[in-house]
Amino acid sequence: MPKPIPGELTFVAPRGAKPPRHLADLTAAERREAVVELGEKPFRADQLSRQYFSRLAAAPDEWTDIPAASRTKLAEGLLPELMSVVRNVSCDDDATRKTLWKLFDGVLVESVLMRYPDRVTMCISSQAGCGMNCPFCATGQAGLTRNLSTAEIVEQIAAGMRSIKNGEFGADASGEAGAVRLSNVVFMGMGEPLANYKRVIAAIRRLTDPAPGGFGLSQRGITVSTVGLVPAINRLADEEMSVRLAVSLHAPDDELRDTLVPVNTRWRVAEVLDAAWAYAERSGRRISIEYALIKDINDQAWRADLLGRLLKNHRAHVNLIPLNPTPGSKWTASRPEDEREFVRQLKLHGVPVTVRDTRGQEIDGACGQLAAAG
Ligand code: SAH
Repeated sequence: MPKPIPGELTFVAPRGAKPPRHLADLTAAERREAVVELGEKPFRADQLSRQYFSRLAAAPDEWTDIPAASRTKLAEGLLPELMSVVRNVSCDDDATRKTLWKLFDGVLVESVLMRYPDRVTMCISSQAGCGMNCPFCATGQAGLTRNLSTAEIVEQIAAGMRSIKNGEFGADASGEAGAVRLSNVVFMGMGEPLANYKRVIAAIRRLTDPAPGGFGLSQRGITVSTVGLVPAINRLADEEMSVRLAVSLHAPDDELRDTLVPVNTRWRVAEVLDAAWAYAERSGRRISIEYALIKDINDQAWRADLLGRLLKNHRAHVNLIPLNPTPGSKWTASRPEDEREFVRQLKLHGVPVTVRDTRGQEIDGACGQLAAAG
């Protein structure tokens, strides 16, 4: 993949060979049809779904409620292996684990599991690479390889849940490692989720549909992060879901945002925020405004003041992210005193603000560092 030229945007992913069809690609009705096509009774679709989504049993020999002869047929027809682990890397005392996956066509993507005292969050990828070309983001600098299928997105979470279930992640020897259930999913890995809209929405349905149709996660525990594709934000509002929307703003003024988030040349700050407020209204959820603090670029007190003016009296929360280093970038994180002043300015406007931890930084697993280099 050649490095994109500055400002270049890629909305439509190149087409390649399609990943094999998988149970998680299909709705409940489609699963029944698929099972019948394989020569099985329709109710086997529910049995298989229960094994995959509720019991996390990917291996056919665990499906004791299904006759052995049917197991092989169903496994081959509906549960092909979509991805394999190239490697896992951990840090933060094993509370953060990044996995590099190889997909059926050799394409590489990454996901990150993070354990906190009260929850386990998984950060997943929606595309291999990204077409949005933000200059401070390692994924953006690599360009867009392809969209992930619904099942390739869902499988990342299924794999995370299986790891937790098998005791490979989520508990330490003392048993004091905190939460052991995966409850939160953030679309903050590789890719622009709203540029792979249909598959991402279908994946959210699989994550949140009750068993046996899906994993039964709460929509409130899911965050979709976007550079600000306004028509897609409006579409998302029409889905009537209660997933959280995060907007990667990074600058309150169009002049600077045009350079940091090139899609701003299509949809301006004011348009993006209007769409976000409409989403907040429909979903009942506060918008998370993502702002990577970059030294001497977007961290001035006047920009914090301007941001505060834009956000005050709206349903928003600012997540400041100290810039994580990426290869070849000349930018670094803000000085501590500038970060403090930025926070202070926002608070003067009554805007809630938190500074995100730099989880996974030492394994290149933090925000904007996912590059999936083999
Ligand atoms: N494409 C979506 C999903 C990726 S989320 C989006 O941009 O929202 C990844 C988040 O990390 C985004 O807010 C992104 O802007 C931010 N990010 C990217 N590079 C970063 C870096 N080097 N340091 C800190 N945050 C970064």
